[in-house]
Amino acid sequence: MMKFLISFFELFFPNNCELCSNSLYKHENYICGKCKKKLPRTYFNMVKTNPAEQSLWGRIDIEHVHCFLFYAKENSTQQMLHTLKYKGEKELGKELAHIFADELEETHSLKGVDILIPVPLHPKKLFKRGYNQSEWIAKGIQEKTNLPIDNTTLIKAHNTESQTRKNRFSRYLSSKEMFSINDKHKLKGKHILLIDDVLTTGATIEACYNALANTDDIKVSILTLAYSSK
Ligand SMILES: [Zn+2]
Repeated sequence: MMKFLISFFELFFPNNCELCSNSLYKHENYICGKCKKKLPRTYFNMVKTNPAEQSLWGRIDIEHVHCFLFYAKENSTQQMLHTLKYKGEKELGKELAHIFADELEETHSLKGVDILIPVPLHPKKLFKRGYNQSEWIAKGIQEKTNLPIDNTTLIKAHNTESQTRKNRFSRYLSSKEMFSINDKHKLKGKHILLIDDVLTTGATIEACYNALANTDDIKVSILTLAYSSK
């Protein structure tokens, strides 16, 4: 009876590949085997220094930057990030993180990392979306590495100045790129892996780093699902 119900359910709500729409096998999640092979990987974990790290040189003191896929207009990465952020498919973030974590494991790329910190989402956005996509990516990394997630220490900064007194541009900047930490000692001596969905200009990462750098004796690495060179 149960089997019948499942088949019946699948008939009307089939599990299809996010990218090619072909139906998935039971062991596949979100992406079929064929599409998984074709993902536009950066293979940054195979080289000593990568363009994402170079883009942050002279700005912040980062150990390593791990980016899974190249992001380009209308490519499969953009399609998946859109689904992850705007279509409620938070589990897709976890699934992609699983694939990435397995590949990073092969090159021992996350060796030395102590703690995972997802980039916090603006409270307004969090309320609207219902979840922080970076937290779901972190969950995927956690499930493969057993590293703990800290999603309480790094926070979106409160603006002490009255919002109405600021001009529109500084309001925009402060709402978008200000972070702080609420405990200076908690992260002391730790190697933090800061997690976000996409690395573009690096402005968000830089702002997070500047908040984290208030702690003594920390190392920071970055992990994102996507890398956009523009
Ligand atoms: Zn597919």
